[in-house]
Parts: sequence; structure tokens; C-alpha cells
Amino acid sequence: MQKLTILGSTGSIGTQTLEVCENLGYQAAALTAHSNTALLEQQARRFLPEAVAVSRPELYLDLKSRLADTSTKVLAGQEAVCELAAQPETTLVNAIVGIAGLRPTLTALEAGKTVALANKETLVAGGGLVSQAIRDFGGRVLPIDSEHSAILQCLQAGERNQLEGVVLTASGGPFYGKTRAELTAVTVEQALRHPTWSMGAKITIDSATLMNKGLEFIEAMWFFDLRPEQIEVLVHRESVIHSAVLFADGSLIAQLGVPDMKLAIQYALTFPRHLPLGGKRLSLADYGRLSFGHADTETFVCLKACIRAAGLGGLAPCVANGANEQAVALFLEGKISFLEIGELVWGAVEEVKTLDGQNLSAVEQADAAAREYVKQKVGQI
Ligand code: NAD
Ligand code: MG
Repeated sequence: MQKLTILGSTGSIGTQTLEVCENLGYQAAALTAHSNTALLEQQARRFLPEAVAVSRPELYLDLKSRLADTSTKVLAGQEAVCELAAQPETTLVNAIVGIAGLRPTLTALEAGKTVALANKETLVAGGGLVSQAIRDFGGRVLPIDSEHSAILQCLQAGERNQLEGVVLTASGGPFYGKTRAELTAVTVEQALRHPTWSMGAKITIDSATLMNKGLEFIEAMWFFDLRPEQIEVLVHRESVIHSAVLFADGSLIAQLGVPDMKLAIQYALTFPRHLPLGGKRLSLADYGRLSFGHADTETFVCLKACIRAAGLGGLAPCVANGANEQAVALFLEGKISFLEIGELVWGAVEEVKTLDGQNLSAVEQADAAAREYVKQKVGQI
């Protein structure tokens, strides 16, 4: 039986991965969460993993006592999460949010494992390290993000060396068509309401600022070895086309479906097979028409900042990501406005100096410098 280790099993992707795991008849061998020990306990009782871990060490006793009557091994701390990530004979699903997902991805790849990656911050901040680990240890990374899953599915129609470029579709988020003036007073509650997808808080804000598309732009470069000019961002409000690839003969192949992350999760686990999965089927006649347009990068500065960072290369994408993680946290705490997120990310890409070279310590320093830049600008330190 196929075994899975699911990091971030209590989140939006994590819980849907458990549904897919049941659908496929796979075994959930290990589960981890950051702080929701109540849900982790429920999951452990239902899926009977060999081990669980909570990444906040102070919650160890809480989790241990919840599972005292079970045979599940209980661990705590970020090191324990990495240890579970590297366990042999399981596929790793990394559904952690934020740069905290980078280390476990690297540990798993250093053990030569296959990683099904939802955690986009891993590739944005440490894409060079991930590529190096794949080259050195022979593991591989498969995308869970729906756009990158779509690209991978479309790529099966041709050969990699015949690829000219990709079209990355974007829903446009809840504030599509709005001007900067209209966005000055956006509240946290408004930004947390996404028109299509139900997701964790951080990625929902990223979708509202279009940072999410910027992160996906950089993610696509690493997943598919693309240059920035090979990626076109296309706003497509209906979220029916999940992305497309352009082959050298001008053929554009797209992947369509109802918006359901379970498809992308399952495909990463069964690649290159399309195994049965229930749920709604796409009826194009119900839509009648589909719409397409360009992204407004003057209003949604985060996307512009990510494309700029992608062009600069080096650790600039890591800086954009770190600044955004810090700015989103401050926005959710009510300390900065919606538009300030983009201004801070742009400012960080322009102003934060980073070391040369791609090693974990340089990546972590660039991330810390970006966060500090944001805190300083906002007057938090
Ligand atoms: P979420 O907030 O719902 O869940 C995050 C999970 O990560 C939780 O289980 C939490 O316990 C864990 N976690 C949080 N901080 C952690 C830390 N410091 N160390 C270890 N674990 C930690 O988020 P989500 O919506 O499931 O998104 C997870 C990742 O997948 C993000 O990178 C997101 O961008 C990406 N993604 C999500 C979707 C989606 O539809 N939700 C789609 C594509 C990609
Ligand atoms: Mg996506």
C-alpha cells in the first residue's frame, strides 16, 4: 500500500489531501500540524498514522495527553517535522504555509524522496536549493498548485524541448477591476472573501493582492525550467481553464475542470495517471462564454514586484516572499492597509541587499532581512 506523510494536515490542502488519501486507499503514515492539536487528534484517531508531530514544541504535552490511549507516536518541534519528512518509503505531501515549508522539503529531497508540493514559498524562496538537491540526490518534486498541475498535465501532450511557453491563468481575486483609490479602505474581512476557492488565510490575502500569481510565476520558472518571458499571466474570471502550454508549432493545450484542489492533489500522487475521482464534472454549456484579460500590475503591485524579482534572479524572489509574509501578517493584525502590502513588497525587492550564492543560510538571511525591512518601514522595531 502507498504511504503518505502529510505536513500541514490540518490546513485547507492538508484536509483535502486526507480525502484524496481515502479515495485512493493510501495509508496516512505521518501527519503534522503547527498548533491545531484538537484537529490533529481527530485525524490521528480516524487515519491511525504511525506518528504525528506538532511543530510548536510547547504543545507537545497537550498532544501527547490527547493521544495517550493510542499507539501513535507523538513528536514535537520543527526538527521532528523534518524527521518525518525524510522517512523512507512514503511520499511527502508538503501542505505547510510559508517559508517554514522549505527545510522539510529539502530534508525529504536529500533522502531522495518524491515530494508533492503545495507549499509554494519553498520554490520561491529556495528554488535553487531545491533544484540542487534534486540533482544531487535524485528525488523529485510534483506540483499540487492547480496551475502547475495543469501545466504538467498539458505537457504530457508533447516533449519538454518542444515547449515555447506557458499561460498562467488567474481568477483576478475579489478586487478585480478596482482602482487603487477604491482599494484604500479594504478591510481584512473583505480581503478574506475569495470568489472561487476556499483556502487558508495567508493564501487568500495573496490571492486578493495577486501576490499569489506572482509566487506562482516564480514557482513555474523552477518547476518547468522557464525564463520570465516564457510565462504569460492571463486573467480568467471563471477559473475553468487552470493554465495552458504553448508548443513550438503554435499549438496551445489547456487543462480545464471545475475548481477543485482534490484533482491537483490526486494527480500529484498518481502522476502520470488520471485515476477515478468523484465530484462535479465541468459543463461548458453552463458557462456559455469564458472571458480573458490582462492583469493590472499597476494596481496589484505585488505581481509586478514578483515579476521584477524573477527578472533580477538570485535571492530577490526570496526577499519578495519574506516581505510579503511579514506584510500579510501585519495586515491580518490590522496594523497596515491593504495597499501597503504591495508597496512594502516592491520596496523590499528594490532596497534589500542580499548575499550572493544559494545556500540555506543565505536564503534564511535574505528572508530575515526582508522581514526586518517591512517591520522597520511600519515602525514595529
Ligand atoms: P492553511 O493555513 O489552511 O494550512 C497551513 C498548514 O500548515 C496547517 O496545517 C498549519 O498547521 C501548518 N503550518 C502553519 N505554519 C506552520 C509552521 N510554521 N511550521 C509548520 N507547519 C505550519 O494553508 P493552505 O491554504 O492549506 O495552504 C498551504 C500551502 O499550499 C500554502 O503554501 C499555499 O500557498 C499553498 N496552496 C494552497 C492552495 C489552497 O487551495 N488552499 C492552493 C494552492 C497552493
Ligand atoms: Mg494556484
